Amino acid sequence: MDRDLRRRLRLLPKAELHLHLEGVLNPADLLALSQRHDFPFGLRDLAACRRLYTFSDFPGFIQAIKTASQHLIAPEDYAWAVEQMARRLAAQGIVYAEVFVSIGILHWKRMAVAPVWEAIEAARRQAEARHGLRLAWIFDAVRQFGAEAAGRVLDEAILRRASGPVVAIGIGGDEIGGPAEWFAGVYTRARAAGIGGTAHAGETAGPESVRAALDQLQVRRIGHGLAAAQDANLLARLAAADVYLDICTISNQKTRCWLPSTAHPVQIFDSSSTKWSPGSDDPGIFGSSLLKEIYNCHDNLALPWPSLRRALRNGFRGSFLAAAERDVYLERFDAAWRELDLPAG
Ligand SMILES: [Zn+2]
Repeated sequence: MDRDLRRRLRLLPKAELHLHLEGVLNPADLLALSQRHDFPFGLRDLAACRRLYTFSDFPGFIQAIKTASQHLIAPEDYAWAVEQMARRLAAQGIVYAEVFVSIGILHWKRMAVAPVWEAIEAARRQAEARHGLRLAWIFDAVRQFGAEAAGRVLDEAILRRASGPVVAIGIGGDEIGGPAEWFAGVYTRARAAGIGGTAHAGETAGPESVRAALDQLQVRRIGHGLAAAQDANLLARLAAADVYLDICTISNQKTRCWLPSTAHPVQIFDSSSTKWSPGSDDPGIFGSSLLKEIYNCHDNLALPWPSLRRALRNGFRGSFLAAAERDVYLERFDAAWRELDLPAG
């Protein structure tokens, strides 16, 4: 994609739906936090931080994000991460983002949620005013920590949404070690409380994991869902349903959940009318961004412009915003697409 098209894409108002606050920390951020807290985990220079982020499989990635999360020691660290993230999102023309914050990991670290919540909410309000974007939170639980722990994450979501935009709960982590059926009760309770549901599924496990997320959790969004591409019945079901996949191709490549020598499942999703939108997942760890995801889909995966346009619109359509709010963003998106003279087909 040439420079001028990249420039116009940056100016387009966009949404990002798959982004982890803890994964925003790049090696330099991690070093800054490590210095601030007197090197609690021994990361003393940039090379050590970069080494942590150099892995060859999914367990290596889990270790990296766990260590990065452990560097968020004080509520101010979380607030600082929000500001770094918001600045980088705004620089890409992102006007709306739904951001995972791992309440499951906060509990695991035995940090009190209230001060962290107050800190990230203050940072969110300030960042929204400063950078002209809007942020919402997805409270994330860890699959392998079990249903009781996920229930405590939902309790926090119900408690905190009176004072800030908590739009959904999610689960991530070990799909085999924490199957969807464990969490059916938690998601039923979330729906009854008017809280949205999403789940990482079909990233490291097979199509049955995606099917379980649909059947057991009745989620509207699925993180990755790559394995669904192997199952024609599931593809037909996804195409017909009001369900959106978050597709993060750079993440998939770095975690080896997808091998670039094979077709990326997004090519199958796109041709089977499965709805998807691009996301950077953990941009500080993977060196990704929403814009880089779009370039990758265009330049390396050969997705045509109508598909890219549809996927970017899905960033709003698949969001947990109210329908009227989605429509306002979509009108703005369509007008900007025309004004920027982006390719029609
Ligand atoms: Zn993710």
